[in-house]
Amino acid sequence: METCTFNEAKRLVRQLVAEKGFPNDESALSQKLLWAFVELGEAADAYKKGENWNVVSEELIDVIFYILDFIGLVEKTQSIEINVDRLFLEKWRKNMKRPKRYGQRRDLPRK
Ligand SMILES: [Mg+2]
Repeated sequence: METCTFNEAKRLVRQLVAEKGFPNDESALSQKLLWAFVELGEAADAYKKGENWNVVSEELIDVIFYILDFIGLVEKTQSIEINVDRLFLEKWRKNMKRPKRYGQRRDLPRK
């Protein structure tokens, strides 16, 4: 099965943005984040309406597209490199070291 890393996906999304002529300068950064929220809303709406899991999942992939687009645009406009694969693993390890249900004080069953 074909697979790709977050870093490869980021490069593919940035290629798509360039080829399709989507906004691609520093002034577009905030709208990339806004569209990520919009796509998350589309996923919630699809879920609410009982759409099949492929539809819901595809909307969630749209969220990831905008997140990776944002990060790639930050790299381009700030002349820095952001290793998304490394960041993911570092954050995963950090979270694994935290206590059970860290950060969740409410919505726990009462004892
Ligand atoms: Mg969508």
